[in-house]
Amino acid sequence: MIQESGQPVDTRQALPPLKDLIACHECDLLMHHPHVGEEQKASCPRCGYELVVHRAQMHRRALALVLTALLLFIPANFLPIMSLNLLGQNAVDTVWSGVVGLYHSNMGIVAVVVFLCSMLIPLVKLLCQLLVLLSLPFPRWRPMGTQLYRAYHHLREWGMLEVYLFGILVSIVKLIDLADLHLGIGMACFIALMLAQVWLEVTMSPHQVWDALSEEEDNHART
Ligand SMILES: [Zn+2]
Repeated sequence: MIQESGQPVDTRQALPPLKDLIACHECDLLMHHPHVGEEQKASCPRCGYELVVHRAQMHRRALALVLTALLLFIPANFLPIMSLNLLGQNAVDTVWSGVVGLYHSNMGIVAVVVFLCSMLIPLVKLLCQLLVLLSLPFPRWRPMGTQLYRAYHHLREWGMLEVYLFGILVSIVKLIDLADLHLGIGMACFIALMLAQVWLEVTMSPHQVWDALSEEEDNHART
């Protein structure tokens, strides 16, 4: 990918229009908005932060990834993550049965947090991304898309599939010497869901989405 550097604004001269300016998220350096081509990116010359990246076919690729992630969501949460045989007792665990198990063990608050961070918020995030992508070709839907994309950015910190996966891996390492343990299809779906989400975040370049949400009808072909 070709990388360019943003051009800092000379504040002693008259400032260009606001739409032609961009500020670095990390160090607040004010620059002229860089014009990047497909598969190019621009970075801040002061701190190296990635300012803008332009992904080719962003809309189609992101739509394919969000649909893949949504298809994986149900099997990842409701198919067995692992089956456990300890002293002759068999147990099959899914993400959902983990939440229910915590609730019945008088750990209601922990169960609610796990349910929110590993199931509900990741699902809401995916639905927000899907609706934002669906709204892009239709100017009338773009205000709704803008609201949902803003909501998605607020929810980003709360979807913690990676933390949940890390917890599963730790429990596997601890249990593997104590019990007969088999990984289930749900585990493969959970890992695939996490990878699809990470790939989707990389593909769905925020600047391209914000530009597409605010652009006029004629220019939509660029995404
Ligand atoms: Zn910077």
